[in-house]
Amino acid sequence: MNSHYDVIIVGSGPAGLGAAFKLAENSNLSVLLVEKKTISSGGLRNDCKQNYTFPVGFPYEHWNKEEAHVLLDEVKKHLNPKLEERLNIDKYVKRAEKIGVEILSIDQAHVGTDKSSKLIADLIAKLEALHVSVALKTEVKKLSSTQKELTLSDGEIISFNHLILAPGRADYDWLQEQMDTLGVSYSDNIVDIGVRIETKEENYPIVRDYYDPKILFPNKVRTFCTNSGCAHIVREKYKGYYSVNGHSLSRDNERNNLVNFAMLKTIRLTEPVVSGQQFGKILGEMVMQLSGGSVIMQRVGDFRMGSRSKEESFNSDLYDFEPTLKSAVAGDLSLSMPAKILRDIWKSLKMLDTIIPGVLHPSTIIYYPEIKTYSNKPYFINEYFMVKEGYYIIGDGAGTSRGITAAWASGIRAVQGILKKS
Ligand SMILES: Cc1cc2nc3c(=O)[nH]c(=O)nc-3n(C[C@H](O)[C@H](O)[C@H](O)COP(=O)(O)OP(=O)(O)OC[C@H]3O[C@@H](n4cnc5c(N)ncnc54)[C@H](O)[C@@H]3O)c2cc1C
Repeated sequence: MNSHYDVIIVGSGPAGLGAAFKLAENSNLSVLLVEKKTISSGGLRNDCKQNYTFPVGFPYEHWNKEEAHVLLDEVKKHLNPKLEERLNIDKYVKRAEKIGVEILSIDQAHVGTDKSSKLIADLIAKLEALHVSVALKTEVKKLSSTQKELTLSDGEIISFNHLILAPGRADYDWLQEQMDTLGVSYSDNIVDIGVRIETKEENYPIVRDYYDPKILFPNKVRTFCTNSGCAHIVREKYKGYYSVNGHSLSRDNERNNLVNFAMLKTIRLTEPVVSGQQFGKILGEMVMQLSGGSVIMQRVGDFRMGSRSKEESFNSDLYDFEPTLKSAVAGDLSLSMPAKILRDIWKSLKMLDTIIPGVLHPSTIIYYPEIKTYSNKPYFINEYFMVKEGYYIIGDGAGTSRGITAAWASGIRAVQGILKKS
């Protein structure tokens, strides 16, 4: 590693990679990509579903359709997606329209958790071949408030002309500290709160025709991250709580005939000003208390009867598949979820059951919570996501994206700003 680079990029998720490729292929600037883990830790590594149609992943406040599609074509050149077919969805679209629900038609590709590390390793190797310096297992600890310098975990200090911060969502508190150091103002962000549904594929057959159906319901509820084929649910540790999430393996794996997907409601807190991240954390902590330190699950049949699920709910003859998340604790959704969120999500699930009859089979499992927090949103001083002369913040952490492809696009846009100056 040198002691100075023209550009340093912090984070090797899709936002950081998008920036690194754009620089490597369009300039002679010296570039260092720093990643604290052995491999980038976000969605590129997990499941890696890529959406190639606006507005999925692109917040309206930063993007329009024309620009997004130009940049998505650039993303495709690096990720080489094999787009999934969408077949026979007209009948679902018509049913949805009748009840005020929208089914988006989105171009998608899926890599699978078992294949994504190879994709990332190949991308990193390509960057190195393009003379980008890559420092893995190297954490950026802090920035200097006065010098264009950063300090790494081993104490080394490196200087730069331009710094691109792309730390993702999980490190929102670290990013907030850096924004405070740099004197960058920011505002609170939304939080998505919801459940993850697990059912047999025969109860949600739309996935045979449309890999990850994007369905928008009234009251800011939407389906998110559908997994099928060889699908399972995991719990992820956040600071103080667990959130559930879904995965699926690539097509090379034996099918388990289960489907899982999230139903999320977006919450934007206004006055009195409360943090979206804190709200999500409080709800997550409450589930920790009620479940003895885990997440809860409830069968739809029990939920409809107004009774909690118990361990034996998952063994009777009607309940004909085992939950894939073994550490989830049988419980009562209504006890742990705020009424407004529960009402809107349950109403949306009933609408979904009208469009795709069967999804609310009594055996279907509802897992809670699935919480998506976003970092506080920086105030940008130009359209290239610059927050201060020479400093750019991109990706999900900055609220400029909500998915792999849009995060990559945000990296391209920041570099367009640097190239313009250079
Ligand atoms: C489990 C999971 C599954 C997902 N699945 C999908 C999916 O299938 N499709 C989809 O579109 N989106 C998915 N997402 C969302 C997706 O991860 C994000 O939209 C996308 O990765 C955002 O890209 P990013 O580059 O902004 O951040 P990230 O991908 O989160 O990358 C940020 C990187 O910065 C590193 N970093 C953070 N702080 C520092 C530091 N101080 N020093 C050095 N390195 C640092 C982190 O280790 C991380 O590797 C998923 C998210 C998760 C958590």
